[in-house]
Amino acid sequence: MAISTETPPQQQHKGSSEGAAVDQKRWTLNDFDIGKPLGRGKFGHVYLAREKRSNHIVALKVLFKNQLKQSQVEHQLRREVEIQSHLRHPNILRLYGYFYDQKRVYLILEYAAKGELYKELQKCKYFSERRAATYVASLARALIYCHGKHVIHRDIKPENLLVGAQGELKIADFGWSVHTFNRRRTMCGTLDYLPPEMVESVEHDANVDIWSLGILCYEFLYGVPPFEAKEHSDTYRRIVQVDLKFPSRPVVSSAAKDLITQMLVKDSSQRLPLKKLLEHPWIVQNAEPSGVYRG
Ligand code: AMP
Repeated sequence: MAISTETPPQQQHKGSSEGAAVDQKRWTLNDFDIGKPLGRGKFGHVYLAREKRSNHIVALKVLFKNQLKQSQVEHQLRREVEIQSHLRHPNILRLYGYFYDQKRVYLILEYAAKGELYKELQKCKYFSERRAATYVASLARALIYCHGKHVIHRDIKPENLLVGAQGELKIADFGWSVHTFNRRRTMCGTLDYLPPEMVESVEHDANVDIWSLGILCYEFLYGVPPFEAKEHSDTYRRIVQVDLKFPSRPVVSSAAKDLITQMLVKDSSQRLPLKKLLEHPWIVQNAEPSGVYRG
């Protein structure tokens, strides 16, 4: 059977072509053939699915309303859907639409055929500089796009990155992202990736994403995040003091260390801007110009 992954499913419209009021057709489960489970999340399951009319392959995320309610994340989900559905970038997972029934909410997502990046990182332990630089450059481009739309991601980490069929990275989870024109004070995200200003709950802005991308770059190259510690309180202290150390193994170039050092700066206004990051010698010399790492 022909399967298309090229054309995204479109919301169908019914109504006359004479310009009368057009009702948006709502998606229902009947519009999809459900395939194998792709994974389990905190609030439900993700399945491979095919939209019947277009044959388009998607990932259908099924969330249980009672669990969303219990954890008081309905507001967060609404924000995630609102933000992600408006973003269009090759390195950001598309959210095509959503629907719901009495018990569940369904998100229609772009299918990332190569799955989770953190599993790949676990398998390899750490990435080559070419691979790390290609990923960091593609994420920098995606974040420049987000910031241009006043969207801060605030939760960049390996668990939130999926890999598309060509090996391209996709930012997948906008659960903590905000649409903002102001500076914010909320504490969110996972400790290892939190910048000092969020750990200390002082105001933060889009530069939090530069910090997290610096942490990610370090973890790609060394296999562990830089401020990891047994106790939360130690990670906290190391972040606030920017206690950055580069182990001797694996061997990492001084250009990569220079880039990380310029991103992990306590004063958020002094972090290397993402556009400058793309011009950094380590990125220029290592990142695949195609933006895709093929191994
Ligand atoms: P989540 O609820 O987003 O944590 O998703 C649970 C798991 O489902 C993930 O860890 C992935 O393995 C898988 N998954 C989620 N979304 C997709 C997607 N768009 N394409 C492929 N796999 C996915």
